[in-house]
Amino acid sequence: MFKILEKQTLAPKVEMMVIQAPYIARHAKVGNFIVLRLNKKGERIPLTIADSDRDKGTITILFQRVGKTTESLGMLNAGDKIQDVVGPLGHATPIEIYGNCVLVAGGIGAATLYPIIKALKAINTSHGVIKDKENVIARSPETPACRQTGRDDEAIPKDEIALLEPALSEKDEILRGVYPEQKDEILRFAQNDMRRAQNDRSEGARNDRKMAFSEQSYNHITVIMGARTKELLIWEDKFRQFADECFVTTDDGSYGRKGLVTDVLKEVVESKSIALAVAVGPVRMMKAVSELTKPYAVKTIVSLNPLMVEGTGMCGACRVKIAGETRFACIDGPEFDGHDVDFQELESRLRFYKEEEEQALHLFLTRTKRQVTSNG
Ligand code: FAD
Ligand code: MG
Repeated sequence: MFKILEKQTLAPKVEMMVIQAPYIARHAKVGNFIVLRLNKKGERIPLTIADSDRDKGTITILFQRVGKTTESLGMLNAGDKIQDVVGPLGHATPIEIYGNCVLVAGGIGAATLYPIIKALKAINTSHGVIKDKENVIARSPETPACRQTGRDDEAIPKDEIALLEPALSEKDEILRGVYPEQKDEILRFAQNDMRRAQNDRSEGARNDRKMAFSEQSYNHITVIMGARTKELLIWEDKFRQFADECFVTTDDGSYGRKGLVTDVLKEVVESKSIALAVAVGPVRMMKAVSELTKPYAVKTIVSLNPLMVEGTGMCGACRVKIAGETRFACIDGPEFDGHDVDFQELESRLRFYKEEEEQALHLFLTRTKRQVTSNG
């Protein structure tokens, strides 16, 4: 049994729970999910691990009450127990230094994107990239990456410094502020980045050379969060802690910009070169994001949410079509390249049991209401 330690309502029909699950907390990676069962007769449902704390042995889930099981889970409180929580399941999100990243969260999709934004920022720090909230970066010469590449005693050729200087001069002030005595080492490190880019003679690579020291060497994260209305927006404050820039859209204009996340995304992909987009939310939103980024050749990851039963690749319920091939979201995903996903099939498979789901919810709510009335 798994004890619920904390419960909080984040928005209408959206709950957060902290659950005691030390094994899962110890092994959870970004992008993993759990499958839970409320009681011995209950169905299994998958939920993303939105956060975890190894030391405390806890995981955090966010869920939207959309049907019988999530309504029933939402009726539990701190101190109550859940029969089974299995995990961590699924592939982890590949976390690397990409450069400019855009994370697009639709509604409850924030649960999946939160560990991703944390990890994309954490890797900046672990690679020694120091970034001022406003604009500037420097690599710490103490990091292994810098030791490997930066510590040769060669003089920096003048023409390379000339290329480097414009990029550096804008940042100079803050560079000096961050590492006053280590500018030479930082220059040498940037020189190394430039050498790699120098093998490529294209226009893009020329820009890369100029930016080798800045844009390319750390994750700069733009977050676009969308919700139907202001009150349905989840964890905006937590995303703002990590985002380099954060845009909010609401369908009704009650907060942020009126419109869809793709309106903002279009402006972002047209304004700068984006290395990675990650979109998590309703199927229609992930489809629209993938269609938008495709002509710009922006690598786009989506996290798929097909019907899933046991979560370990045996039942096949969560099959999805990726680049024409059948894959199982539980063991091959849940993240896939958005440009390869057959969203139409995903949408139609999600509707497969709509009637039964509605009946089950109706019966459950009627029974619960009757119980509440007869108890008091
Ligand atoms: P039902 O009335 O049974 O179904 C309502 C709708 O939910 C269905 O039409 C269908 O679209 C979907 N659904 C139903 N059963 C399942 C199932 N077994 N597996 C997947 N979808 C189902 N939701 C969250 O709110 N937060 C999350 O962090 C989250 N993470 C997920 C991670 C993965 C990998 C997947 C595949 C799904 C995730 N979901 C998440 C969706 C969540 O599992 C469903 O909302 C939940 O199962 C609905 O159960 P229900 O009985 O309350 O609703
Ligand atoms: Mg259900």
